Amino acid sequence: MRLRNIPGAREAVAASPFCVQDTHAYRGRWRELFPGKERLYLEIGCGKGRFLIETAALRPTDAFLGMERFSTVLYKALRKLPEPAPDNLRFLLLDAEILTEIFDRGEVDGIYLNFSDPWPKERHRERRLTSARFLRRYREILSEDAVIEFKTDNRSLFDFSLEEAEREGCRILQKTFDLHADEAMREGNVMTEYEERFVSAGHPVCKYVIQVS
Ligand code: SAM
Repeated sequence: MRLRNIPGAREAVAASPFCVQDTHAYRGRWRELFPGKERLYLEIGCGKGRFLIETAALRPTDAFLGMERFSTVLYKALRKLPEPAPDNLRFLLLDAEILTEIFDRGEVDGIYLNFSDPWPKERHRERRLTSARFLRRYREILSEDAVIEFKTDNRSLFDFSLEEAEREGCRILQKTFDLHADEAMREGNVMTEYEERFVSAGHPVCKYVIQVS
């Protein structure tokens, strides 16, 4: 994602009541932020927030956290929040590298990875959010039967991700190399900003749904 400096973005994110500031303090207590909600889902690399804002509106009984590492990007997500803002959605300005410092064992009921950065250089493979290194972290914070849903337009990243999932002993529940041509898997699909762009340009989108436990 090309990043442009946006004056005031960092300050606006730091002052937003919809961006959790003291993230470490919530470890083991995230549900307290969402009284009465059933399950807690996390999108890592939520970008400008379209997917999560729409998903939170469609599923008002569940709670959603959007994690993004750049304040300029998160600022745009915060500006997209409808009025009144949903009571089941909050954002985190964080790098997924510190995921297990932020969430306790079994605290998250599902993870969404949408159009994650491909890190094409071999020496950066461990930084890919679908690498075995990250899958092991997800295993620590996910509840029993929780699933990870991953979408990408990048076929080599997808092939790598399937291999890593298999290597880690994950169960591949569903997979497709062309989501929008797959009647069963596209049902209820919520588009992301990147997805809209790729689909409009005629690029197929790959998706898997896996279980790490
Ligand atoms: N999910 C959005 C979509 O589909 O439109 C954005 C996709 S964009 C290619 C990837 C996003 O993930 C970027 O906003 C990037 O800053 C964020 N990201 C990448 N690595 C991350 C990490 N380790 N922790 C948090 N966010 C990350």
